[in-house]
Amino acid sequence: MPVTIAIVGAGPSGFYAAEALVKSAVDCRVDIVERLPAPYGLIRYGVAPDHEKTKGVTRAFERTARNEAVGYYGNVELGRDVSLDELRGLYDAVVIATGAPLDRPLGIPGAEKIGVHGAAAFVGWYNGHPDFRDLEPDLNADSVAVIGNGNVALDVARILAKTPEELATSDLPDYAAEALRRAPIAELHLLGRRGPVEAKWTNVELREMGRLADCLPEVDPAQLPETVSDGFSERDRRLREKNLATLRGFLDLAAGARRKRLHFTFYAKPLEVLGGPRVEGLRLERTRLEAGRAVGTGETFDLSCGLVFSSIGYRAEPIGGLPCDAASGILTNRDGRVAEGLYVVGWAKRGPIGVIASNKPDGAKVARQIAKDFGPGRKPGGPALEALLDERGVRWIGFADWKAIEAAEIAAAPPGAPRKKLIGIDDMLAVLASA
Ligand code: NAP
Repeated sequence: MPVTIAIVGAGPSGFYAAEALVKSAVDCRVDIVERLPAPYGLIRYGVAPDHEKTKGVTRAFERTARNEAVGYYGNVELGRDVSLDELRGLYDAVVIATGAPLDRPLGIPGAEKIGVHGAAAFVGWYNGHPDFRDLEPDLNADSVAVIGNGNVALDVARILAKTPEELATSDLPDYAAEALRRAPIAELHLLGRRGPVEAKWTNVELREMGRLADCLPEVDPAQLPETVSDGFSERDRRLREKNLATLRGFLDLAAGARRKRLHFTFYAKPLEVLGGPRVEGLRLERTRLEAGRAVGTGETFDLSCGLVFSSIGYRAEPIGGLPCDAASGILTNRDGRVAEGLYVVGWAKRGPIGVIASNKPDGAKVARQIAKDFGPGRKPGGPALEALLDERGVRWIGFADWKAIEAAEIAAAPPGAPRKKLIGIDDMLAVLASA
């Protein structure tokens, strides 16, 4: 009998694990169980709407989903429709691939004020994630602060900075396009608690900030060091030198008719969100670097802003009562092994670092581990899961159903856009009812 494996989560780490398993020497049958009807997790709901090329990786995931040894159970939520214990009872192995979907809390006074948003929530909102459709952030502010110097902070700043024309060929939902179009944002402040050398952006993403139609990046030349200090690997050093060169290049850009400004501010640590019930500003402390760490100097300054986006990293969600690190949500694991027959891959295993392809080695590793841990399979897998879900009246969908939903999204796309996303789960399921 083939080894039966359930993968929980149809994001990049889940698909890379499925691909590695079906390509491995293990005779296996893999079922991907996903909470939402739509697969692809962070690719669909995290990658920026104007980065369509990055989403091209779904073509490889689709090939995996079409493999006859792979099943897809969309709209099935662990803990609601089936418990982890039940899944472990039905499958020889279970692989958790649920990512890190939550915001790390900002944890400063005033962080609960109206107008403070975590990047995970805001990104989910502008990407049409059903969980965040109702966020409806009030974008009526002239000045906006984005905290953090990672790629997600750049995504958030770029989406706020772009013109409707620049976003017209993206899959931004209508409600988000309309809210962004009406937003009077003129000043964007990108705040790093450390310096430009320590920023975590990749260079391609940083360079994009110099090519915005209506927004000029501004950097204080006094904050740009001449060189990258020692202590970095050769590769890291080159990356950081590139970023410094890009920031220096921003100094030479002419404003032209550009109306908005994106201020890169370094060595500034947020201390407190100011205002009444709504955000009116941010108090920051100037920092200096000591052994690579940001240390407060005691000198503070206030920034006037009506919105704060906290983009300081994601955290994983505790799963099925399994032990995890309280702060990061990372499942307690030994090199991907959680318990007998239970494994974890991707951000739920390693934390929210790395690009999409960084999940690939995790997939290869879990396939090797499962090959080592199992002889022939013993548990029934898919047919038993289907019977359980049907008995409970769970409206699960297969991959062909997802393709019908996707076809409806593509058919509804405005000219030049790749798709018009269906947002609500009911709206997605309605496509199948009318098919
Ligand atoms: P990230 O790269 O870890 O960046 C987090 C940023 O938040 C860092 O600048 C960090 O500063 C800062 N930070 C953390 N705690 C803070 C605090 N308490 N106060 C102020 N600043 C704080 O995380 P991310 O931007 O969420 O990205 C997650 C992963 O997804 C990354 O690997 C990223 O490259 C990837 N990603 C890639 C793309 C792309 O390739 N286009 C797009 C989006 C995301 P310190 O460095 O000082 O800790």
